[in-house]
Amino acid sequence: MSEPVYAAIEAGGTKFVCAIGTADGTLRERARFATRDPESTLAEALAFFEAAAQRHGRPRALGIASFGPLELDPYAPLYGRLLRTPKAGWHDVDLIAPFARLGIPVALDTDVNAAAFAESIWGAGRHADGTPLDTLIYITVGTGIGGGVVVHGRTLRGMMHPELGHLFPRRHPDDLGFAGVCPHHGDCLEGLANGPAIVARLGHELGNATPDHPIWDIEADYLGQLCAQVTLAISPQRIILGGGVMQHARLFPLIRARTRHWLGGYIARHQVEAGIDDYIVAPGLDDRSGILGALRMAVDTGRQQRDTAVDTGESLP
Ligand code: ZN
Repeated sequence: MSEPVYAAIEAGGTKFVCAIGTADGTLRERARFATRDPESTLAEALAFFEAAAQRHGRPRALGIASFGPLELDPYAPLYGRLLRTPKAGWHDVDLIAPFARLGIPVALDTDVNAAAFAESIWGAGRHADGTPLDTLIYITVGTGIGGGVVVHGRTLRGMMHPELGHLFPRRHPDDLGFAGVCPHHGDCLEGLANGPAIVARLGHELGNATPDHPIWDIEADYLGQLCAQVTLAISPQRIILGGGVMQHARLFPLIRARTRHWLGGYIARHQVEAGIDDYIVAPGLDDRSGILGALRMAVDTGRQQRDTAVDTGESLP
């Protein structure tokens, strides 16, 4: 029998990534296209999987890692839908129903929870011997700021899912005149530290800011506050920072210094003192954490389904 394959989607605000892969994290085929209106975008994803099934065999399950906010409570009537997203036309869109035609189980989580999950299994969220860390946070800083959390090998979900980007930082003294860009809160973390907030202050694109521009000290201070606050709230074993803004090379050392500043010596642990270079780190999977997280969700869901089928004596396909 050929090796089982699984389907994965990383649904982003600007692009969709669809892939077919195997349980070890190998992507057999991948497609990338622009996020347009929900109907045509989801139809293009479905068409990819139907065509890919001809080449690789029918996938056992589908994992969807999506931008949010999402209804993730399987008992809620709106399960699988996007909630109050600012992405035009996508509010209330059902992300699961369009894939019913594939006839396979579907797992859904946020893109950042999925990224945290993949990093814990294959990336920078592991011990030196390769085993997953028990508690890990993945934060992306780009057009938005989002955070995913893995606790005890599972992504953190509750009433909804973590929304770490909308925590409130203390204002930097040199940044008091800026109102922030979050449509809900103004000067929450996302409103002060996402890509558009930097551009709004600079008046030009991010890439044109000189390395010693004071904006980076302000940016690092806010992200340092975020790292300090999630350290206090969740006590992760590591924090991974990804996303477009984090490509700016100077940020990591500045953020580590500001994290220590805001922790004020209270967390007397090696990880946040001499060992902080190994506590706040870049992703190990580059920009593949989201799609690999979706793949791994599909693998786990496919296996669960089969275990349940065996327990109840149902015949397997
Ligand atoms: Zn906000």
